[in-house]
Amino acid sequence: MIRKTSKESIAPYLRDASNYSGGKAEEVLIPESVDELVCALKDDLRPVTISGAGTGLNASRIPSEGIVISLERFNEMKTVKNGEIWLGPAVTLLNLQEHLKNTNWFYPPNPTETNASIGGTLATNASGSRSYKFGVTRNFVNAADCILADGRRVMVKRGHKITEPLLMDDDSEIGFPEIKYTTPNCKNAAGYFVQPGMDWLDLFIGSDGTLGIFVNICLKLLPRPDTFLSAVLFFEKEKYCWDLVSKIKSTTFVSPCSLEYFDRFSLELLRENYPNIPLQAEAALFFEEDVADQNDYDAALLVWVEFLTDKNILMDESWFAHDQKDVQAFHEFRHQIPMLVNEKNSRAGREKIGTDMAVPDKYFDDMMTFYNKTLFGKGLPYVIFGHLGDNHLHINLLPDSSQKKLAESLYDELARKIISWEGTVSAEHGIGKKKKKYFHEMVGEESIEGLKKIKNVLDPQTRLGRGNVL
Ligand SMILES: Cc1cc2nc3c(=O)[nH]c(=O)nc-3n(C[C@H](O)[C@H](O)[C@H](O)COP(=O)(O)OP(=O)(O)OC[C@H]3O[C@@H](n4cnc5c(N)ncnc54)[C@H](O)[C@@H]3O)c2cc1C
Repeated sequence: MIRKTSKESIAPYLRDASNYSGGKAEEVLIPESVDELVCALKDDLRPVTISGAGTGLNASRIPSEGIVISLERFNEMKTVKNGEIWLGPAVTLLNLQEHLKNTNWFYPPNPTETNASIGGTLATNASGSRSYKFGVTRNFVNAADCILADGRRVMVKRGHKITEPLLMDDDSEIGFPEIKYTTPNCKNAAGYFVQPGMDWLDLFIGSDGTLGIFVNICLKLLPRPDTFLSAVLFFEKEKYCWDLVSKIKSTTFVSPCSLEYFDRFSLELLRENYPNIPLQAEAALFFEEDVADQNDYDAALLVWVEFLTDKNILMDESWFAHDQKDVQAFHEFRHQIPMLVNEKNSRAGREKIGTDMAVPDKYFDDMMTFYNKTLFGKGLPYVIFGHLGDNHLHINLLPDSSQKKLAESLYDELARKIISWEGTVSAEHGIGKKKKKYFHEMVGEESIEGLKKIKNVLDPQTRLGRGNVL
């Protein structure tokens, strides 16, 4: 077991990509085996925050007290067998993608930040551009070896329903409590996942480091598509882009796996690094479609070109990928926008003020109009980008020091409206420490009491991820 006790060695574990300040920890423990981790949890009764790669945006890996346990040594990756891979939680998405390059297998979840650890992506139920077609991390987890806060261990497998108790390694049993709460019916990462008759595994996934510690994970893989067809389309008006997305969603003619949006201010920011963005463009859409067989590529491209004709797109100025290097470059273009925002926040010493809200399909147009009406012309810089296909956009507010209150009241106004449309205040980053106020408004206090019962059966001392979610 490695122990870090000096202020300087603890400091890196008090940060994540949210720029949240105020983290505190007495010590960082870095176990080198599951046995060491279990002993530490049994012998040391202080509150514990688990640390992944620290790319999270909700401050859930930032401890408010007690100790940090970092699983950075748990980075073993087994070979793929029957479309599954076992790996340690510290393996990063990038490591996994590199590893799979030499195989015929593909892991679809692609949260834009590839330095994220697989453990962190399970804890937040991360999603990304390709979730539009393939779904979220939860859909690709077959099993997880979990340790509870008191050191008990359980292998949680797909198909093990909450109607049956969890059988722990010391032969004790844990039953799912009676509660009324169920998770909203749209893309959602807010609070615990609860559906009647669901698997225990789905409860642990997305629990923001508060219910159990993943020490070994079995991921489900899909056969690798031969290639991806992809483009970045530009529009003279934002509305033209929203209309196109509605048309794409209601046709079977084309079937993209990603539909990612950039508003006019995102393009303004990106122009610093991409001077080739057309000057008249006020919006852009990055799309890609997976093509199983390379021989079908030309036909699929023709279908897209035909579909896109006469749809108010700046076709001559738009970028179409010629090869997989271009597809990668478009992903990097998408990744650049949150990176530039995070850099701006760091330079300004500002905590990230970014929304992660989504609504059911029927509110898509209302949501887009409402966002623009509420934010435009207020004198407060902002950008809107993200997963348009899932009605799930990230609004990042960039207030100067005199505009903090205005930013907070705008965020409140946006959240209230999304909640009134039965949407979610977090569709992919989780609640963590930053969005609890909105989560409580979204589900109400009775539901919070129900969720506390779940926490209570798995971690009665409230040691794990203290200060997150509830
Ligand atoms: C530029 C940028 C773009 C991003 N884009 C996306 C995106 O498109 N989609 C998306 O979903 N997210 C996105 N994110 C957010 C982030 O990458 C994800 O939330 C990611 O899942 C966090 O992983 P991590 O390893 O960094 O976790 P951390 O930040 O270290 O921790 C996050 C949470 O996971 C818990 N945790 C970590 N490991 C374990 C474990 N083994 N067992 C139990 N709990 C654990 C922690 O305690 C904490 O609660 C982005 C972040 C950045 C900086």
